[in-house]
Amino acid sequence: MQYEFSIQVSPEIAVDPDRLKIVVSKKNGISVDEIRHIQVLKRSIDARQKAIKVNLKIKVFVQEDFEEIPIQLPDYPDVSNASEVVIIGAGPAGLFAALRCVELGYKPIVLERGKDVRERRRDLKAINRDHIVNEDSNYCFGEGGAGTYSDGKLYTRSKKRGDVNRILQLLVGFGATDQILVEAHPHIGTNKLPAIIAAIRQKIRAHGGEVHFETRVTDFSIKNDEIHSVSLHNGDSITTNKVILATGHSARDVFELLHKKKIEIEAKPFALGVRVEHSQQLIDQIQYKCEVRGPYLPPSPYSIVKQVDGRGMYSFCMCPGGVIAPCATSPGEVVTNGWSPSKRDQPTSNSGIVVELRLEDFKDFSKYGPLSGMYFQKSIEQKSWHLAGETQRVPAQRLADLTKGKVSVDLPETSYKPGLSSIDMGEVFPKFIHKTLQHGFKAFDKSMKGYLTNEAVVHAPESRTSSPVRIPRDRKTLEHTQIKGLYPCGEGAGYAGGIISAAIDGEKCAAACIKTIN
Ligand code: FAD
Repeated sequence: MQYEFSIQVSPEIAVDPDRLKIVVSKKNGISVDEIRHIQVLKRSIDARQKAIKVNLKIKVFVQEDFEEIPIQLPDYPDVSNASEVVIIGAGPAGLFAALRCVELGYKPIVLERGKDVRERRRDLKAINRDHIVNEDSNYCFGEGGAGTYSDGKLYTRSKKRGDVNRILQLLVGFGATDQILVEAHPHIGTNKLPAIIAAIRQKIRAHGGEVHFETRVTDFSIKNDEIHSVSLHNGDSITTNKVILATGHSARDVFELLHKKKIEIEAKPFALGVRVEHSQQLIDQIQYKCEVRGPYLPPSPYSIVKQVDGRGMYSFCMCPGGVIAPCATSPGEVVTNGWSPSKRDQPTSNSGIVVELRLEDFKDFSKYGPLSGMYFQKSIEQKSWHLAGETQRVPAQRLADLTKGKVSVDLPETSYKPGLSSIDMGEVFPKFIHKTLQHGFKAFDKSMKGYLTNEAVVHAPESRTSSPVRIPRDRKTLEHTQIKGLYPCGEGAGYAGGIISAAIDGEKCAAACIKTIN
């Protein structure tokens, strides 16, 4: 017999199957000897009270053995000679679009400007150590896109659980831990993601799909409002009438190209701010309300939102036990973001803390039109670069100093490898963002006592939170509203925010595109 129910236990019991059996037996009047196995279906931590609890959804096997059913990948056919779909970008959106094409019997041709996961590592080293930014291979560009050397948090606000579970199961099929199917806040970690991404690429190729690295798309040819071919950086071109455009939110050259060719795009509100680093121990103390976290709880995340004079300020992509990374995609700019290893065992935590921006905040709207948000974002990244000394060092300030408008007399070492320059954030940001940060951090401290400390350091800017541009598409066909055969896809087009939602959108675009192939 099998029984499924929810139970709340202490963190120690949650990790000890024998003690869990005793608790379940007592609660349900089942003899311990009769319980053959307890399968945990879902796990979440409830840290609202001083006595922290773990919520478990479990399946109890009574007088019946548990048989583990391994996650199976779909039965992918050979598509070597099938109709082709060109996919630009090998981020989560592009790769999951390609996998879906193969699954449905079509041949994806993936064109990626960056290098494969292994080659990409050298360029990450160069940006961290030598301050050299490769415009085609960096933390945002290359195999797996911005998702490869990311934190690998897999939660999403998507309401469609079926779609989310499908992507999680595919990730498990490609080598991710099956715990991502159980945890309420699943996470993979930077050290594990590259092998999963490489396995996806190998699968696409093994079934006849193509994946081309160091292949940047530089132009589109359009005939009678229909896509006709794409041009590559080396002068080659590919004739095609099906293109999934999944180039991410950092491909400014793609947005500029679309605008130049008068292909409709729109400015989109986004958010921008700083990345703050605290000691993980402090965050644990605040969140778990205890001196030391102990061995049974994971490094604590946090999530916080405040309204400051009617403008939202919130935490974004919080990385417990993580590191701040240099995520610029061009020389002459600095950008921060964060990642963590699978164990989240670094002594520091970091989070983007960003201020909501509206279209009316982009002063140059009349000059730049749909690119005005993108230029606003770029101007702050370039100013930060200039202020911090024109390397990959970033402007930084101790947190309490920021709220007081005081330049920090010294800065502690942080996890951001290229280094810091002490600069008042008032110099980096327009007044309305600076003021919101100053007031917002004080408000944060009211909800998370101890958060506002001078031991924490803000790094600027956190500017690539979501795309500053939307590429409009038809709600039903997912085709560009003006160009037939062009499918704007993923985060860059404005239809996703994060790995899972980008992957879901990739699958959706592939299916919609294939529907139109006779
Ligand atoms: P991208 O991943 O941006 O992929 C676009 C791809 O297109 C890139 O590989 C790029 O090289 C390629 N490309 C661009 N222009 C061209 C061209 N002209 N020709 C050919 N190829 C081109 N999200 C989460 O959900 N959880 C996290 O924990 C998380 N942490 C992150 C940490 C970091 C450091 C970063 C940078 C991002 C993080 N993100 C995280 C965000 C997440 O990675 C993105 O939301 C996601 O990757 C978007 O997927 P995408 O496929 O739409 O675009």
